Amino acid sequence: MRVVRVALDVPLDTLFDYVLPDALAVEPGDRVAVPFGTRQRFGLAVETASGSEIPAGRLKEIARVLEGVPRLPADWLDFIRFLAGYYQRPFGETAVASLPPRLRSLRPLPKKILDPAPRAPSGTRFEPDHSPTDAQAHAVEKIGSALGSFRAFLLHGVTGSGKTEVYFRLIARVLAQGKQALVLVPEISLTPQLEARIRGAFPDTQVAVMHSGLEDVARTSAWLACARGEAGIALGTRLAVLGPISRLGLVVVDEEHDTSFKQQEGLRYSARDAAVALAQRARCPVILGTATPSLESWQNALSGRYERIDLPERAVPGARLPQVQAVDLRSEPTEHGLAHSSIEAIRKRLARAEQSLVFINRRGYAPVLSCDACGWAAACSRCTARLVLHTADRCLRCHHCGAEHPVPRHCPTCGNADLRPVGRGTQRIEESIAGLFPGARVVRIDRDVARRRAALWQTLEDVRRGDGDILVGTQLLAKGHDFPGLTLVCVLEADNALFSTDYRATERLFSTLVQVAGRAGRREEPGEVRVQTRYPAHPLFAALARHDYAGFATALLAERKAGGFPPFVFELALRAEAKKLEAALEFLRQAKQLAAAGDRVRAYDPVPLVITRKAGFERAQLIAQSESRPALQDYASRLRTALQGLAGRQVRWHLDIDPIEFA
Ligand code: ADP
Ligand code: ZN
Ligand code: ZN
Repeated sequence: MRVVRVALDVPLDTLFDYVLPDALAVEPGDRVAVPFGTRQRFGLAVETASGSEIPAGRLKEIARVLEGVPRLPADWLDFIRFLAGYYQRPFGETAVASLPPRLRSLRPLPKKILDPAPRAPSGTRFEPDHSPTDAQAHAVEKIGSALGSFRAFLLHGVTGSGKTEVYFRLIARVLAQGKQALVLVPEISLTPQLEARIRGAFPDTQVAVMHSGLEDVARTSAWLACARGEAGIALGTRLAVLGPISRLGLVVVDEEHDTSFKQQEGLRYSARDAAVALAQRARCPVILGTATPSLESWQNALSGRYERIDLPERAVPGARLPQVQAVDLRSEPTEHGLAHSSIEAIRKRLARAEQSLVFINRRGYAPVLSCDACGWAAACSRCTARLVLHTADRCLRCHHCGAEHPVPRHCPTCGNADLRPVGRGTQRIEESIAGLFPGARVVRIDRDVARRRAALWQTLEDVRRGDGDILVGTQLLAKGHDFPGLTLVCVLEADNALFSTDYRATERLFSTLVQVAGRAGRREEPGEVRVQTRYPAHPLFAALARHDYAGFATALLAERKAGGFPPFVFELALRAEAKKLEAALEFLRQAKQLAAAGDRVRAYDPVPLVITRKAGFERAQLIAQSESRPALQDYASRLRTALQGLAGRQVRWHLDIDPIEFA
């Protein structure tokens, strides 16, 4: 009897045995249709065997083999198995979910995918933009000499130091060897810019772009171009690390510190860490590039696991790092949240036809709508959170669950008609700026704009070409963009993060500020960065002004070490949610009891999450730490086994390995 063991998208940690009928041929890596319950399901053949532990009479037959695309390579299946194990997820679910939607469906593939328009084979022509600076050349030599074997490099280059040029020169070498390169970026909005640069530098090379914003056919075709080895360069967001690249010669993770490399649902993987594991398997180098390394990567460089290479200066001749100063809000008067000196600074830029950026990391009009008469404030009924006022589409929106409500005309408790927006978001700043600088072209860029305007990158492109005088934007603008005409950055309302209970908040604030500051003065005109704060003496601002990432990292690492936090320990979070908080807490208490932590793992008492209620569920978590990765992994799998017996219908739970968000 020929038996095929099949991975299915079900929440069970097992493969399913099916009999292979004589008329069919199946190898591991084939996509198949199998009967499951009352219907047919998509499955991935993973192993073949000559028998099964299940009695022959109860085995069903493979229904058919899904043709048309290459068999999935064994290394890919192995890599996915590794990720599923590491992140404590069922293998079948992980493998199936890693395929583009089209390839995990039983529907026949459209002709456009099966017979793509013929393309010229991928060439290797390389047309560099610049001759490299000494620092760039040194980096290329260092990393270049490691091609063909695994090595992890931390490319610590200040903003504008020309990291891309380093990536490109190495990609050129990899292509010349007949291999492929994988480039990961944190944001969809960064792909078009980099894609254009890649296409300019490698005019003959097929580039496969992979991110979740692509429609089905494009996404599937890109995936297949990688799998077939046709694409010389794969470029994408975190999910691209799950693509099968047959001849991988180099992996690049740009902006490696960015938290969006960590997926926050399903398989909660870190694409950065996965990229390192992938490079290790493919025996090729991986470059983690950033101006502000994550403390994990910095510590890995200190300990010698990663090799650090510095690009300490900006690449454009004459370009300097911007001048950063803290603007003391205790002594300076403000107007609409902007210090007078900042308003003056913007006015100067307008007169010189240079661009300014006003950065505020909060979208919407105002974070609170409240009644002065009785103290009522609009809150989400499903979350422990205030509703944010959005004036552009006249609604109150919850930024946690997405719920939308009309803006009330009167206070729902006392009837007062005079409801007041409190605090500021991008929309309000946009309005104030337009009032302060009539005639200036104000461009707002945040996730709301990005959602409505498919062509966010077009807006960014316009700004890059000088269309727009004052930009108002969030985090979205801080990442990786190159705006040649921008010489001033004003940062508003950064203080909250200074005193957050989340021990990662200062690390994040520092990197956000360095990144956003890095948008200024990327050409000959020097840049100026003004951070408004009530705590100008905070050491973070001094480090920022000195462009002293290393000093700041040293101080933060010392704090982490003293407090017993990552990267000096490994962590996992077990989270539970239920209609009643007590049910979630009790579930976690039982889990803790059932899976004894042992003496190498410290499991803390379950506590409610800060935003306790989200989308109608009360949420709690248990944190466990260990200095030993294997001990923590052991504990994680013990927890998982215990939970499988424990979970009822009332409690949903998940495990998060190496968690980074605690809200
Ligand atoms: P990073 O990603 O490190 O912030 P980029 O790769 O975007 O920096 O480069 C910043 C700017 O410097 C770009 O405009 C790029 O064209 C320019 N640049 C890069 N390398 C050189 C070089 N060797 N000589 C001159 N300009 C360069
Ligand atoms: Zn009221
Ligand atoms: Zn909500």
